[in-house]
Amino acid sequence: MAKEPKLAVIPLGGLGEIGKNMTAVRFGENIVLIDCGLMFPEEEMLGIDIVIPDITYLLEHKEQVLGILLTHGHEDHIGALPYVLRQINVPVYGSKLTLGLVQGKLKEHNMLEQVKLTTVKPRDIISVGPFKVEFIRVSHSIPDSMAIAIHTPVGTLLHTGDFKIDQTPVDGEVIDLPRFAALGEKGVLVMLSDSTNVERSGYTMSERVVGNTFDETFRHAQERILIATFASNVHRLQQAITVAHKYERHVAVVGRSMANVVQVASELGYLHIPEGTLVELDEANRLPKNKVVLLTTGSQGEPMSALTRIAMNDHRQVDIMHGDTIIISATPIPGNEKLVARIIDQLFKLGAKVIYEAVSGIHVSGHPSQEELKLMLNLIRPKFFIPVHGEYRMLKRHAELAKELGIPSENIFVGENGQVLEFNRKTGRTLGRVTSGRVLVDGLGVGDVGNIVLRDRKQLSQDGILIVVVTMDKENNQVLAGPDIVSRGFVYVRESEMLMEEAKTKVKMALEKCCVRGISEWAAMKSVIRDDLGKFLYEKTRRRPMILPIIMEV
Ligand SMILES: [Zn+2]
Ligand SMILES: [Zn+2]
Repeated sequence: MAKEPKLAVIPLGGLGEIGKNMTAVRFGENIVLIDCGLMFPEEEMLGIDIVIPDITYLLEHKEQVLGILLTHGHEDHIGALPYVLRQINVPVYGSKLTLGLVQGKLKEHNMLEQVKLTTVKPRDIISVGPFKVEFIRVSHSIPDSMAIAIHTPVGTLLHTGDFKIDQTPVDGEVIDLPRFAALGEKGVLVMLSDSTNVERSGYTMSERVVGNTFDETFRHAQERILIATFASNVHRLQQAITVAHKYERHVAVVGRSMANVVQVASELGYLHIPEGTLVELDEANRLPKNKVVLLTTGSQGEPMSALTRIAMNDHRQVDIMHGDTIIISATPIPGNEKLVARIIDQLFKLGAKVIYEAVSGIHVSGHPSQEELKLMLNLIRPKFFIPVHGEYRMLKRHAELAKELGIPSENIFVGENGQVLEFNRKTGRTLGRVTSGRVLVDGLGVGDVGNIVLRDRKQLSQDGILIVVVTMDKENNQVLAGPDIVSRGFVYVRESEMLMEEAKTKVKMALEKCCVRGISEWAAMKSVIRDDLGKFLYEKTRRRPMILPIIMEV
């Protein structure tokens, strides 16, 4: 009898980080991908726009990749699609709203025509090669989110996707606990589950709580109301719109991404806007202040966002006025706290009343807290468990939680991106690694900015640059003009004329030294200039600007 193929799970992103989620599931010679997300750059990635997973492994096994399955429409799950599909064009499966958002992306990249998108609904079971793929409804901070069960001859793999257990969801579509229980009853070989909120005890509150807080705030607000939240949180937008309608206010949308989501979500029937409620921004500006609600992005303090520009008095159409109520309906993602705090300060200074995270009920998370994670583990009782979607300590905590519930520690895998985890009906093991990592996207360049470019950018950002220009005679190595020095970001030249003169002298001395030692190669001369000038400047200023010698020959 031929040996039965094994089931392998290969995380290509999302482990040890929050972002660029992507998991390859391999059975024999067949691969499906779950999610295809991006990550926003970290602070030290200067000038980088987005970060996507390294897909070298997939490119090496291109003909085996059968499709991409999407859990939901957040950027950390769909954001890398245009880049990946350009290299591996396979069918994409997802819910209606998820694919609606994907379409917008593909259109921006001029790829809509080339990609096959297939809409699936919760409880649909489709065949992708040897895989029977089932979609199961979950609650999350974007509608139409689904867990994915992949049934294979050796057993079932369940990926929860991002989820929470909301007993009173805004759209009435409750997480399909009966289906999860049934899967658990039948037996699940491997489960991968969301670790984002594993550090929080108890249950995550229902999204409906936010609606109640909106209602309370609207009832007391005398003037204009401005709500900043994630564009993709359609349920929250719905609650804002519903409450606005109740208090006879009109709603205007500020910011391109928010306008885009409002359009897609209402076209697809996920957002219900009462007739006449939505108005253009300039119309809102003409209405009495107590008749207006503005919805905007920028709840993370993103420097280019509408809210930041509004707070900095730099928005073309929106000025903050004394008496405005501003609701920041989000928690800063770790790393963004300072940006958000600065915006809140600024808004207070402009005379607004700001309601933010510290006030309970203005934001609830879309991810499960400990009790929900336990409930999922107990419903499924998987043989093997892989915590995903979290930084390393979160994966560790989630593993602990699973152990407390009786999953043997040898059946729990705290993995890393690129690690191959292989399972048969009875055993699971780690089996080497494949290439994985991050690919940086800057403008139109994908992967062309690496460590060397980033190191240069870092140096430039810290101490600036000095450009030394000398014109020389090729025949006899005589200096014909210069040296001239141009600097940016190093010192304020007008106040440092002395230093600049001394620097020029240093360059001249360096050139004389070259002459005496018989150094006539341009590259060697440049290196002497760089070393001598660098040493001099460091002694004088304790700074290390980038030095760029240019020798022009005539
Ligand atoms: Zn999500
Ligand atoms: Zn996510």
